[in-house]
Amino acid sequence: MLNFDHSLARELDGFYVPWQAAQPPAPRMAVWNAALAEAIGLTETDQDQLARWFSGAEEVPGSQPLALVYAGHQFGHFNPQLGDGRALLLGEVIAPDGARLDLQFKGSGPTPYSRQGDGKCGLGPALREYLISEAMAALGVPTTRSLAVVLTGEGVWRETPQPGAVLARVASSHLRVGTFEWAAAHKGREAVEQLADYALRRHFPERLGERNRPLALLDAVCEAQAALVARWMNLGFVHGVMNTDNVTISGETIDFGPCAFLDAYSAGQVFSSIDRQGRYAFANQPVVCRWNLYRLASALIEAIVEVDEGDNEAARVMLEQWGARYDRHWIAALRPKLGLTLAEEGDLALGQALFAALEGQGADFTRLFRALGASLEEGYGAVAAECTDPAALQEWWNQWQARLAREAAPAEQRRAAMDAVNPLYIPRNHLTDAALKAAEGGDFAPFSELLDVVTQPFVRREGLERFEHGAPAGTPPHVTYCGT
Ligand code: AMP
Ligand code: MG
Repeated sequence: MLNFDHSLARELDGFYVPWQAAQPPAPRMAVWNAALAEAIGLTETDQDQLARWFSGAEEVPGSQPLALVYAGHQFGHFNPQLGDGRALLLGEVIAPDGARLDLQFKGSGPTPYSRQGDGKCGLGPALREYLISEAMAALGVPTTRSLAVVLTGEGVWRETPQPGAVLARVASSHLRVGTFEWAAAHKGREAVEQLADYALRRHFPERLGERNRPLALLDAVCEAQAALVARWMNLGFVHGVMNTDNVTISGETIDFGPCAFLDAYSAGQVFSSIDRQGRYAFANQPVVCRWNLYRLASALIEAIVEVDEGDNEAARVMLEQWGARYDRHWIAALRPKLGLTLAEEGDLALGQALFAALEGQGADFTRLFRALGASLEEGYGAVAAECTDPAALQEWWNQWQARLAREAAPAEQRRAAMDAVNPLYIPRNHLTDAALKAAEGGDFAPFSELLDVVTQPFVRREGLERFEHGAPAGTPPHVTYCGT
């Protein structure tokens, strides 16, 4: 059975309420992640037993379910009282490799933090999170993982009735910027210090010995979030709801409600139906990330200056210089996508010029990078074919060639290196929508196929051509909804 521990319950009294999952009338396994189950040390394989455990019908042996409290800035406005309104933390699993991982249910019924919500989750959104989180993991992006989606046998009402489901997910932890905001708003400095020490022990133990631990935590989260958002930006990922309650301390991607990948590149791309101002638009994500880190800094500042008044200035400078830190991560993640192994100062401008030249060209973001790789052997024509104006990237391409001339690898080897980091297969919006729709109607085959494709994103496989292409002409613009 799973090797549970409950360090959060032991060490963060007051940050949660013990709670039980609602009883699902007829649990049935929809998707099971056998590889992840094995990695966390789960040996049970009977699907009916697993469905009962991972829907809340029977308590998972060794678990101690609880609902975490947090606060958060949602679309810029502070909400002092949020929390697990449809989720439960079962505890931490100590995996066979020693990793400590939260196991959490989503959609397991109302809790004291549900506000007006029903505490439930529809099958579509649960499958969406499963698919995209597993794709992100395969793409090498820090993310929560998905262990199971279990049908509850009950309907949930959104705009229309939907089959209900519980998602079981695995994360380094569920501590968020909003957890710190809640502690600062309701409990004061000592609780913030307690939470900061707990977060450091869990995620950045190497920094526990530093002189100012809350400041060390702020720095570690600034680093982890810079690295994370840089990865998103290089994959065309739009999170969609970067509220501070959806920003992890660990630096993992969390909460895949309205997220989507870019089709045609556009800096201002928004998919979420509720993001009318474009706050969480593609190119705004680093800006918003820094804004969120300011919220973390505000929650930590009393604890920081308690150690040393002068560190107020250190925190200020840290946030002020975050943009440069982000740029370093961004270009470091972009270089291999462009076949660059040496780090040159001009690379940042070269990368930025590529994104600028792409604007308005209708070029599919994912395909474009594979086309760049192909162009090393086939010439600029491979790139021109992706753009509305065939000449749009010519000048940039020439600059890139000049830059590549200072790299040692022969073209063929360089192309292979680029193809190993530029995905062919991502969860394209039209394919995801079609797969979820089929699953809601009882046919899981398209979902299983898409999951298989996007979790092996880099190597071309026979017969999967249709997964490489954008939506067919005439497909309406993709819109995502928050109601998960
Ligand atoms: P999210 O947008 O998924 O990050 O959720 C924001 C907040 O709303 C969290 O505190 C959730 O627990 C809560 N919430 C979202 N949907 C529901 C629901 N159906 N029932 C209860 N609470 C919910
Ligand atoms: Mg959330």
